[in-house]
Formats: sequence, structure tokens, C-alpha cells
Amino acid sequence: MQCGTQFSESAKPPLHCPICEDERQFVRHSGQEWTTLERLAADHRNRLEEEASRLLGIGTEPEFAIGQRALLVQSPAGNLLWDCITLLDDRTIAEVNARGGIRGIAISHPHYYTTMVEWAEHFDAEIFLHTADREWVVRTSPRIQFWEGTRLPLWDDLTLINCGGHFEGGTVLHWPAGENGKGALLTGDIIQVVQDRRYVSFMRSYPNLIPLGATAIRRILEQVESVAFEQIYGAWWKANVLSDAKAALRKSAERYVRAITS
Ligand SMILES: [Zn+2]
Repeated sequence: MQCGTQFSESAKPPLHCPICEDERQFVRHSGQEWTTLERLAADHRNRLEEEASRLLGIGTEPEFAIGQRALLVQSPAGNLLWDCITLLDDRTIAEVNARGGIRGIAISHPHYYTTMVEWAEHFDAEIFLHTADREWVVRTSPRIQFWEGTRLPLWDDLTLINCGGHFEGGTVLHWPAGENGKGALLTGDIIQVVQDRRYVSFMRSYPNLIPLGATAIRRILEQVESVAFEQIYGAWWKANVLSDAKAALRKSAERYVRAITS
């Protein structure tokens, strides 16, 4: 219930969730609780709303687990689900199918692995995860492809970029067709869009307030320096930098490094 990650089927609930017990997350004060997709679907539903043209947001109401929304990038050679959420309900399946289904699922980091295998099986999709975060996969599947290195080109010039930071395998998606061809980055919380949406930020742990160091920040900047983007779409509804996002990233990184080194 805390991170929304689905484990392989078992007769009894697992004893531990490594993702919650990691220093970047937490177990609730009342202890770990478990649920099933059926129980979740009984009192939750998904909200589907366009965040931009050809970019459908999918989140759960009332909010569940970490509370992120996923994004369906609608692309000519096949749709890509960027990040994932736990609940997959009938209305979501119908709405996604009406937009052409899902060819692939790419996920920024383990906090959003959720029920990725469920989604992949349902839509007959492949899953792209960076191999550096392989240890955090708690439900394995032959549909998961672990990729290595700093770039993974997909179709239609969609590209996965490994930035590290929050997680070693931390990945962002470059969507060159976004914002009428000016480009967009979809970042989850590898690059987190903050309340003041002229800025972004970066953390090793958000709930436990563990910052990143200057070297990690510079690595993130370097990894996205060569791609063009006007916008950044973060992990939450409307958590988006809608213009001049590359400059916003640069000044946010400078501000951050100044704060941690002064
Ligand atoms: Zn996270």
C-alpha cells in the first residue's frame, strides 16, 4: 500500500517490501499493509486527462501509494507508456485502446514500477528498465528488457536517457515531437518539477529529504545537454515546466549546487 508495487502471486503476503524499506522510502507508522488489484479497484478509479496534445495523463483517485500519474505518449509507430501506476481498470483499458494501445512501457525508476507487468501483459507491450536498478524488480517477467549505457533509442526518435541521481538507473524520456516539435522531457522525479513551476529539483530521497551531491547534479545536466526540449513533464498532475525548460533546468541546478556548497 505504501509504494504500490506488485509482487508475484503468493499464498501469503510478502514479509518485506525492499522498495519501502530502502532509505529513500519508508514503512508507514502503522506497519506495512498489503492489498490486491481487485480490492483496490473496488474503491478507486483512474482519472484520465490530457496533459498536452497526444500526451494523456493517467492517475488514481482517491490518491493511492506514492500518488504519481503516468503519461501515455501517443506516437505514430506505437504508443509509449511513460512511468506506471498500480491501478489498471476497465475504463483505462478502453481509453488507452481507443488511442491505439501501448507498444512499450518505460519507467523512470523503481518507485513507479508498480504493476508494470500487469499493464504489459494486458496490452502486449515490452518494458524497458535500466539495468542498474534491476535489483528492485520484485515481479519478474520475460517482457522486461534491461538496457545498459546512457541512451536507448526507441521508435519515432523517442530516446531513453540514463541520468542517475535519485536512483542509479534513473531515466528520463526525450520526446522530440512534444510541444509541436520543440521537444519535451518526461522526467518522473529524476528531475522533479517543484511547486514554483519555473524550477525543478533533485533528491536522493524526497520523503526523507536526502539531497544529491554536486557531481550527481552535473551528471544529470550533461546527460540531457545534447537534446532539444522546450518543456519538462514531471511526475504529478500539472507538475510541468511549459516553456524554456532547458534554461529552467540549468538555473535550478546552479541554485541547488550553490545551496549545498555554501
Ligand atoms: Zn522516487
